Amino acid sequence: MLDLSFESPEPKRISGATGDWELVIGMEIHAQISSQAKLFSGASTAFGAEPNSNVSFVDAAMPGMLPVVNEFCIEQAVRTGLGLKAQINLVSAFDRKNYFYPDLPQGYQISQLYHPLVGEGEVLVEMGPGVARLVRIERIHVEQDAGKSIHDMDPNMSFVDLNRTGVALMEIVSRPDIRGPEEAAAYVGKLRQILRYLGTCDGNMQNGNLRADVNVSVCRPGQYEKYQDSQDFSHLGTRCEIKNMNSMRFIQAAIEYEARRQIGILEDGGAVGQETRLFDPDKGETRSMRSKEEAHDYRYFPCPDLLPLEIEQAWVDDIAASLPELPDEKKARFMTDFGLTDYDASVLTADVANAAYFEAVAAEAGDGKLAANWVINELFGRLKKDAREITESPVSAGQLAGVIRLIKAGDISGKIAKDLFEIVYTEGGDPAEIVEVRGMKQVTDTGAIEKAVDEIIAANPAQVEKAKQNPKLAGWFVGQVMKATGGKANPKAVNEIVAVKLGL
Ligand code: ADP
Ligand code: MG
Repeated sequence: MLDLSFESPEPKRISGATGDWELVIGMEIHAQISSQAKLFSGASTAFGAEPNSNVSFVDAAMPGMLPVVNEFCIEQAVRTGLGLKAQINLVSAFDRKNYFYPDLPQGYQISQLYHPLVGEGEVLVEMGPGVARLVRIERIHVEQDAGKSIHDMDPNMSFVDLNRTGVALMEIVSRPDIRGPEEAAAYVGKLRQILRYLGTCDGNMQNGNLRADVNVSVCRPGQYEKYQDSQDFSHLGTRCEIKNMNSMRFIQAAIEYEARRQIGILEDGGAVGQETRLFDPDKGETRSMRSKEEAHDYRYFPCPDLLPLEIEQAWVDDIAASLPELPDEKKARFMTDFGLTDYDASVLTADVANAAYFEAVAAEAGDGKLAANWVINELFGRLKKDAREITESPVSAGQLAGVIRLIKAGDISGKIAKDLFEIVYTEGGDPAEIVEVRGMKQVTDTGAIEKAVDEIIAANPAQVEKAKQNPKLAGWFVGQVMKATGGKANPKAVNEIVAVKLGL
């Protein structure tokens, strides 16, 4: 059994003029389902296609067109639910959410309000070694995305691109268990990581494939705990919702600003009005988009074009059996199997491709700790310098393992290994062969080292006298020997021989 024990982090506190305040945050995350086709039509979901080229008659809401559920999208949502340890509802249903907007040809969005596909789950959000927030998931429902209005191409006209219309989204709704801006960003990061492990959403925030509506309220210390015990929202403050955030940095800035704005209102004796707000990244402020009174009345009702969605437990079980190892489990395993630190294991499991690369190196090199050091410090550092992904690494796992094997065998020193790594990175080739051909092998032959030490001692009598008075100066001789041997002498042997020859 995995040990995932942890302590909860302290909630973020802001001290105002009238005392301390705490933050309470709940998120609704829209994650685009990784699927080639849309939720109810066969049109392509390819990003960056010519505007309006991926629009079927269903997406364009031509009269008489009927939606047909894409089974693969449902499977992806079920997979996501299982990955979030959530309940899967064998019977769910689609509802129409009615509103008028030019990028919504149907005049309604097909969504799931009353009977979502996925029920309660949880996400463990780590904030440091052994410190984590357990954020409860309330539900995940499946729905269609809308199109995109374009207002900045022409001074007099607006355009619409319907390529995105009908693309499948999962809306992942959390309970208001997130207690600060850093936790909020970490929550999005963790969810993104899990979705990428599962392969159900690519998590590309820049393209809008993962975006968050952030609900923020403030309350006095102790109030959240009362809510937690009773599920009675009246213990919490009134929330504002900040719409459509697709950057972790902006999410944090928006929450920080919004909390202080609400505290200012409350401390002035006012009341926070429930409303939807937008974040302006240039000004670092949120501003009102619409108040509760102006909120849409969506007139939800069951979609008459679709039967309730019934799935079988056996199908869910099959999906469960095919789930990959998830981040928490992989991290725990890396710590026990390879003796890695919490930090190193976190770094290596941040992305599933990184983790796979590391495991391949560790297996071939037969040394998890060295493999972790080399992957994190040398390889990641070098790739970052070139803005490359692990999948574009010029050094394969096999080649890096080759470098590590040479270190372990004592054939090369750590310093030479770095030079060797750079050669493999820029020129390619087999590490063992490069060491052989370029004469990079470490000199462990004590005779050769002794000879070099003798020469340097003979040439520097004044230094010898000084070193005899002050043994710390022996390091100078070691340096000279290393220089004379082009860094190839075994440093441990050099140290020993220098000490003996100087009579220290
Ligand atoms: P709606 O459908 O109007 O957006 P929901 O009840 O579905 O309302 O809640 C939306 C989100 O708001 C959820 O993520 C929930 O956790 C969060 N939320 C609810 N109450 C609060 C509150 N007082 N402070 C912060 N977040 C809240
Ligand atoms: Mg909402």
